[in-house]
Amino acid sequence: MSSRPVLVCGFGVIGLTSAIRLLQGGYKVIVVAEHLPGDPLTAIYASTAAGAHHLSFAADDDARQQALDRRTFDLMWEEERTEGEASALMKLRQVEYYATEGETHLKFYESMPDFRVHSKDELKPFATHTVSFTSLTMDTTPYLHKLVKIFNNLGGTVHRKSLNSLRDALEFEQEPFAIVNCSGLGSLKLGDVMDAEMFPVRGQVVVLNAPWVKEGRTRQVGNLAGGEGGERTYIIPRRSGQVIIGGTREYNDWNAEPVPETSLDIKRRALEIFPELVPPESQLERPPVPEDLNSIVIREVVGFRPARKSGLRLERGHDLDVEGRLITVVHNYGHAGAGWQSCWGCAEEVVAILAKVDST
Ligand SMILES: Cc1cc2nc3c(=O)[nH]c(=O)nc-3n(C[C@H](O)[C@H](O)[C@H](O)COP(=O)(O)OP(=O)(O)OC[C@H]3O[C@@H](n4cnc5c(N)ncnc54)[C@H](O)[C@@H]3O)c2cc1C
Repeated sequence: MSSRPVLVCGFGVIGLTSAIRLLQGGYKVIVVAEHLPGDPLTAIYASTAAGAHHLSFAADDDARQQALDRRTFDLMWEEERTEGEASALMKLRQVEYYATEGETHLKFYESMPDFRVHSKDELKPFATHTVSFTSLTMDTTPYLHKLVKIFNNLGGTVHRKSLNSLRDALEFEQEPFAIVNCSGLGSLKLGDVMDAEMFPVRGQVVVLNAPWVKEGRTRQVGNLAGGEGGERTYIIPRRSGQVIIGGTREYNDWNAEPVPETSLDIKRRALEIFPELVPPESQLERPPVPEDLNSIVIREVVGFRPARKSGLRLERGHDLDVEGRLITVVHNYGHAGAGWQSCWGCAEEVVAILAKVDST
């Protein structure tokens, strides 16, 4: 094993989990990133803006993505079991509604605990097909803080810096064993990467204080198309009692500010599939309207999912040529709307790629 440190660019959920697995694998790790957990919410730092729940988007023929999502689910399931009430993760019943004739669930869900296809008699008026199972939600801020604690305890170091290029990171270690690029959407403009396939999929959500809500629900209208297609409405309860309602998928939209009309539409759609979001004391005889949620709104949030036209990039890239010296580069970016649910699987693949480099 190389005694030279690994430089990791990026400290979102992907950089953090990669750094932790590398430290656990015996590498020294130095992270360089512009945004760190604890920073004020900003759309460009996707990990802090996410919902998040574990609902795989892996296509039925995409064994690799299925394995990344599965590994992450299994680890988080065990983590939640051992941590109990103190966990930033929460197990919950998840109901998936499909509203377009002919659309059905992904095969991945059939392996989830308590999976069940709902019978025709059980169908709601807004769904043509429904399944339910048990899944997990992640409370993103406390989970990231927990990861930072693990990282620190393992001896990782972190520097805040906005990099113009990957090679800028060499300021912190001139002779690294490798550079691991976990810069998310930053890979669009980061020198030595400049991946023109990267683009933002804007997502706007509303955060509610609704501790009485303990079930996750999603309604998909139209085709999922690999995770970012159609219209998706979701309700994501967190252990803290906060509930994230969403969402939107706006391709190439860089507007970092919440749009009030969008929040109104999100509330309307959320109430269609989850009228019990309205505080129990103010539930009325009439159907609920978006304004009924106003008293429990905590904030509106916008985030940019780091999407990539040809999908996730998790591989060894071209070596970086620094005045004739070649430095190994491994990429782990472009997770779009699936970075939380695949993070540990991806992190372990980074270590496996570097282990191969180490053994040659
Ligand atoms: C509204 C919304 C809902 C979502 N819901 C879910 C969900 O339910 N489940 C799920 O699995 N995923 C979900 N996601 C997606 C998930 O949030 C992302 O896939 C994931 O956060 C990507 O993590 P990342 O670490 O690659 O990127 P980021 O969190 O964006 O982190 C990138 C890191 O790289 C650093 N960086 C970038 N460029 C530079 C540079 N030039 N110099 C220095 N540092 C740089 C940044 O500062 C940051 O530290 C959601 C996203 C959004 C926006």
